[in-house]
Amino acid sequence: MDHQLKLKLIRQITAEVNECRKCSLWKTRRKPVPGDGDVNASIVFIGEAPGYWEDVRGKPFVGAAGKLLDSVFEKVGISRSKVYITNVVKCRPPGNRDPRPEEIKACSPYLDRQLNIIRPKIIVTLGRHSTSYIFSKVGLKFKSMRESQGKLYKVNLWDAKTYVVASYHPAAPLYNVKLKEKIEKTMRMVKELEETMLI
Ligand code: URA
Ligand code: SF4
Repeated sequence: MDHQLKLKLIRQITAEVNECRKCSLWKTRRKPVPGDGDVNASIVFIGEAPGYWEDVRGKPFVGAAGKLLDSVFEKVGISRSKVYITNVVKCRPPGNRDPRPEEIKACSPYLDRQLNIIRPKIIVTLGRHSTSYIFSKVGLKFKSMRESQGKLYKVNLWDAKTYVVASYHPAAPLYNVKLKEKIEKTMRMVKELEETMLI
């Protein structure tokens, strides 16, 4: 798809999300967080839902988890401006509670449309919510992050081969420091895969 058309369609989704009232999270949100980055990205990262600072600023991963993600990106050579980052649920659940099934159901069509427009070579899910959502979409079994993270799955989406990689959520090392190494290892693999796919 032509770059200008991609931009237009992605901006259309952003505008819809900014006005959305399809689930009750609109009542407590400050700013919806539609997603951010390059519409021509070969990698799309999918988090769970906005947290406190994302809700304030309307941008994904700008709080503590975002800082950790930035530091991992820098370490492995992923440039944030060249990827696209979004969430399964676009408005902050009050108190950062888990998103509810009905909220995921109401909101995920936006994510589906974003993916279908961007058509990344690699989808990286961050944490169990986005992992279980994407896994069920592509027909993969999801048991646990421990089992799924760091593995490469080749799937068929849009009649083209796409890779799905699950990573621990970048907030996880805030509770268990050891997980940062696992995230780094996964992101290094993602970066290497992207480089080999570009050849
Ligand atoms: N956690 C998420 O899952 N997404 C964000 O955008 C920020 C924190
Ligand atoms: Fe709409 Fe999603 Fe926000 Fe719910 S979370 S109001 S479905 S944008």
